[in-house]
Amino acid sequence: MSPTLSSRPPLTVLLATPRGFCAGVDRAIQIVERAIGRFGAPVYVRHEIVHNRHVVERLKGLGAIFVEELEECPPDRPVVFSAHGVPKSVSAEAKLRKMIYLDATCPLVSKVHVEAGRHFDAGREIVLIGHAGHPEVVGTMGQLPAGAVTLVQSVEDARTFTPKDPANIAFVTQTTLSVDDTAEIVAALKARFPEIATPYKEDICYATTNRQEAVKTVAGRSDVLLVLGSANSSNSVRLAEVGGRAGARAYLIDDADGLDLAWLAGAQTVGVTAGASAPEVLVQGVIDRLAESFELSVEEIDAQRETVIFKLPRVLA
Ligand code: SF4
Repeated sequence: MSPTLSSRPPLTVLLATPRGFCAGVDRAIQIVERAIGRFGAPVYVRHEIVHNRHVVERLKGLGAIFVEELEECPPDRPVVFSAHGVPKSVSAEAKLRKMIYLDATCPLVSKVHVEAGRHFDAGREIVLIGHAGHPEVVGTMGQLPAGAVTLVQSVEDARTFTPKDPANIAFVTQTTLSVDDTAEIVAALKARFPEIATPYKEDICYATTNRQEAVKTVAGRSDVLLVLGSANSSNSVRLAEVGGRAGARAYLIDDADGLDLAWLAGAQTVGVTAGASAPEVLVQGVIDRLAESFELSVEEIDAQRETVIFKLPRVLA
């Protein structure tokens, strides 16, 4: 009997590694799940625990209620603060209202808070490189009194920013920025203020850095890049940008339903990655969808192996 020939065209899928959940996201999700287990439903969560629609919907199904402000939470139910961190005023208010609160701020965001506090105590004016309005930026700026931190979003901002004392400034950054864009902003700051105090260790976190490195490798070999992640996820948006610059036509999609097969016209190789808040099951969903129309050959492209794990708060461990 002659072998059956597939009528589906061939397509190579390159899977970027690492991709998807980081240690901070994994910890934040576990905090909500365990809080529901420990205290019963509902458990309130201030802001999306991580910026992913699927994660939020699943946790809603388990008994989480998502709100934007603390005053929306009844004082007799526990509240979880999202992985992005909160201004100090939020935990102060929770204490005042004698609420049970669990802080799911990623330890690498807390590290930036500590660093900013250290510079402030040393009398330095602080520049925060980040995106206006992002909850992490709001949380980091809210660690210190109003006016202590100046937000710089671009090279242009870095060129025009006027410090009170140019000899006494420091910078910290949002954890989920583009490594390359941030390097340009830092270079512009250093060119103007050679004495600027820099972070002990990179503020852009290991997960952001590793996922951007991996996507560059995959996008450089792909016609099209599919990034699983929600549009409000900073690190997912950055992955699509970095992948686009590395040469692929990049699309950010929430899940397989967001995939338009017309994007793949003429493509022989498709790269796939996922932002740090996107579950792996969504990657599998895209592969399954592609397999309906193409004869797939799937290759895992390893960049870095990650072994980072963060401890849970003692009350939930
Ligand atoms: Fe923490 Fe980085 Fe993950 Fe954000 S992306 S939660 S900073 S490990």
